[in-house]
Amino acid sequence: MTAGRHFLQIPGPSNVPDRILRAIDFPTMDHRGPAFAEVGQKALEGMRGIFRTKGRVVIYPSSGTGAWEAALVNTLSPGDRVLMYETGHFAWLWSRLAERLGLRPETIVGDWRRGADPDAIEERLRADADHSIKAVCVVHNETSTGAVSPIAEVRRALDAAGHPALLMVDTISSLGSVDYRHDEWGVDVGISGSQKGLMLPPGLSFNAISDKAWQAARDARLPKAYWSWEEMEEPNSKGYFPYTPATNLLYGLNEAIDMLAEEGLENVFARHARHGAAARASVEAWGLEVLCARPEDRSPVLTAVLMPEGHSADAFRATTLANYDMSLGNGLSKVADRVFRIGHLGDFNDLMLCGTLAGVEMGLRDAGVPYRAGGLAAAMDELGATRQGQAPGA
Ligand code: PLP
Repeated sequence: MTAGRHFLQIPGPSNVPDRILRAIDFPTMDHRGPAFAEVGQKALEGMRGIFRTKGRVVIYPSSGTGAWEAALVNTLSPGDRVLMYETGHFAWLWSRLAERLGLRPETIVGDWRRGADPDAIEERLRADADHSIKAVCVVHNETSTGAVSPIAEVRRALDAAGHPALLMVDTISSLGSVDYRHDEWGVDVGISGSQKGLMLPPGLSFNAISDKAWQAARDARLPKAYWSWEEMEEPNSKGYFPYTPATNLLYGLNEAIDMLAEEGLENVFARHARHGAAARASVEAWGLEVLCARPEDRSPVLTAVLMPEGHSADAFRATTLANYDMSLGNGLSKVADRVFRIGHLGDFNDLMLCGTLAGVEMGLRDAGVPYRAGGLAAAMDELGATRQGQAPGA
């Protein structure tokens, strides 16, 4: 047994705050009884606020992958072409899932070091004169690389090409941490999950649905049953669900909605951006390389760090776990063992970041990785310079 608390610094699941744990720790109620309607209604309404939509939101008792599938099967038909932008491992997984559902994904392959390129999307859509592409799918915050894609610009790319494809955006690791505006950005289906910015355990997922996507669902012919939006409509209108919802996670979700409202979404985004900047200051001071190449794409939620040549990221992570009881994220598929990921999201503050970065710095030393000391100090300087209410660098 290790004394003190474990540092869970993977980029989701994130640390669940005590307030949410307490809210979940409440007797399970009759999900068809009168008291439940209020719980369901609050959750559905609250999620509209977090997605920033006046449209529909559905909630599934599933991980995020289920909500990916739901977005596709509700709106598309067998053989439909979908344009996927491969920003990293999760975008790639989503396109594999599309293929297995009988869709025809066409992938713009990125270098896994930046966000999606709206110009490349526009060019491909302009070439699609007969509008055979039915959806464009982009991951907002690519959790495997730490790169954010410019969704408003992707919307502009669709508009500039005069293309009617649906725009689907994975916000699984951005919602509640990075600015996301479903209606303003003209997103048709937003996909999310509970275990990152929403600070809950894994187990809930979401679709935010535009009117256009809802209309598309009428003609969509991919088979669906459990994921059907239509089945949700009538029970959801009264705060209920067509099957047994994850009751206790919904109690937790309602607490998370309150917490985010109390802090204010803009402040939540600013807090994450500030921690992202401080984490990167550390990496630069250590003399290591941030995987995400373009500063403007770098994620407020996580920082993926490239290991120096000849050093194993997994061996380093094993050292931080053994010596400091801290879990860091691993490199996935193409960047396996080449990067480690520092999660700085959810219920997170300055001292938690300092503890995390101290653990990384001590782990680099213990694992014999070449680095310059002073990363934690650089982050402390950055945090000091950007204290709340004080302009950066003041
Ligand atoms: N998309 C992104 C961006 C993710 O980060 C994840 C999980 O980390 C997923 C999709 C898959 O979600 P889940 O593992 O909850 O099914």
